Amino acid sequence: MNRSGLTKRRVVVLGSTGSIGVNTLAVVDHLNASGAADIRVVGLAAGRKAEVLIEQAKKFKVPQVAVADPGAAAQVAKALPGVKVFAGPDSALELMEQVEATDLVAAVVGSAGLPATFVGATKGMTIGLANKETLVAAGALVTPVVRKHNARIIPVDSEHSAVFQCLEAHRGGDPAQVKRIVLTASGGPFRTASREEIANATVEQALKHPTWTMGPKITIDSATMMNKALEIIEAHWLFDLPAEKIDVIIHPQSTVHSFVEFADNSVLAQLGPPDMKTPIQYALTYPDRPAGCSDVLDWSKLRKLDFEAPDHERFPSLRLAYDVIEAGGTAGAVFNAANEAAVAAFLERRIRFGRIVELVAEALSAIDARPVDSMQTVLAADREARAFVEDRVGKGVLSR
Ligand code: NDP
Repeated sequence: MNRSGLTKRRVVVLGSTGSIGVNTLAVVDHLNASGAADIRVVGLAAGRKAEVLIEQAKKFKVPQVAVADPGAAAQVAKALPGVKVFAGPDSALELMEQVEATDLVAAVVGSAGLPATFVGATKGMTIGLANKETLVAAGALVTPVVRKHNARIIPVDSEHSAVFQCLEAHRGGDPAQVKRIVLTASGGPFRTASREEIANATVEQALKHPTWTMGPKITIDSATMMNKALEIIEAHWLFDLPAEKIDVIIHPQSTVHSFVEFADNSVLAQLGPPDMKTPIQYALTYPDRPAGCSDVLDWSKLRKLDFEAPDHERFPSLRLAYDVIEAGGTAGAVFNAANEAAVAAFLERRIRFGRIVELVAEALSAIDARPVDSMQTVLAADREARAFVEDRVGKGVLSR
C-alpha cells in the first residue's frame, strides 16, 4: 500500500535524542510540512538528555515518553504535565508495551535497545532499524518473530539501506542469483595508520570520523572497523545470506553506500552523500520516494571514487564477524556486548585503543556459544561478556 499521501502513520522513536533520533524527527517534520505524509509521533524514548527530549515532546505533541535515567525522568515529568512518563532502565520496554503505533524507529545505541525493539516485532510494527546491535545479538530470535507477526524491518544503516534498495530491483527473482553483496566502509580515521599508531590511538583521534557525524559508540566502532563487522552480521540476518556472500570493500568517499552483484555479473549500487536523512526517510516512506530534505549529491564535485581491499592485519575485527556467524547461537550477543564494554572502557580511558578488538576476541574464545532459545539466554550471554571484559579491565591485565 502506498504509505505516503494521506496514509497516517503513528511512529515511536527509540533513542530520539541521539544522532539518528534527531535526524529522524527532522525527516518527520519535513514529510509532514511538505504534505508528503501524515506522521504522528506517539512515543519517544531517551537515555538522559532531558532538555532535548522535553523540546521534542513539546514540538511533536507526544503523549508518552520514556527516560532511562531516573533523575532525567523526574525533570521531564515536571516539565511535561499531562504527558505519560515512563522512568528507569526498562522504560523504553514499558513504553513499547503500552503504545499503539504502526511504526518504530529503533535508534537506541547498543543492546539496551534490544528488548523494546523486540516488542515492536511482536506487535507487527514496521521497524526502521538503526540499532544494528539488535540483530547482531539476537538475530536468531528476532527474525522468526518478525515473520510470525507480519512485522517488517527496513534498514536505516546506510549500507543495508543501499543493499535493500538494490535487492528491490530483484524482488521476486531467484535469491540464488544474488552472487554477493558488498558493504562499503569509509575505513575510518585510521585507514592509512600503522599498526602501532592504531594500537595507541587516543580517544580524540578515534572520535574524528572522516565522513560521517555520528554518536560516540558507532564512531569508535568505525575506527576499529567493528562497525563493519557488526554490519556483516546484521546483513546476514537482514538478507538471509550466508557469510561467504557478504564482502566488505574500503571506499573512503562514503558515496557508494553498498552494492549487489548478481549471477549475470551485473552490479547494482546505491549512491548518495553521507547524510543519514536519506536512508531514514526511505525507511519511513518505503516504497515511496517523496522529495527529500537530505544533502544532494553534487556530481560536479565528485572527482573520483576509490575502492581498496580491507587490511585484515591492521583491522582484525572483520574476520571476527565471520567467526561469529559460523559459531552461531549466543556468539553474536557475546561479540556485541564485549565490544560495547570495551568501547566504554576505552572512552573512559581505562584501556588503550588496540585492546578493544583484542578483548572482544578473548571474550569470544572464553565464552562458549549456546543455542538462542529465549531473550533471557541472549541477555545472560550479554551480561557474561560484559562481566568478562570488566574483569579483565579491572584486574589491570591491560596496559594503557
Ligand atoms: P547516539 O549515541 O547519538 O544516540 C543514542 C540514543 O540512545 C540517544 O537518544 C540515547 O539517549 C539513547 N539511549 C541510550 N541508552 C538508552 C536506554 N537505556 N534507553 C533508552 N534510550 C537510550 O547514537 P547514534 O544515533 O549514533 O546511533 C544509534 C544507533 O544507530 C546505534 O545502534 C548505531 O549503531 C546506529 N547507527 C547510527 C548511525 C549514525 O549515523 N549515527 C548510522 C547507522 C547506524 P540520551 O542521549 O538521552 O542519553
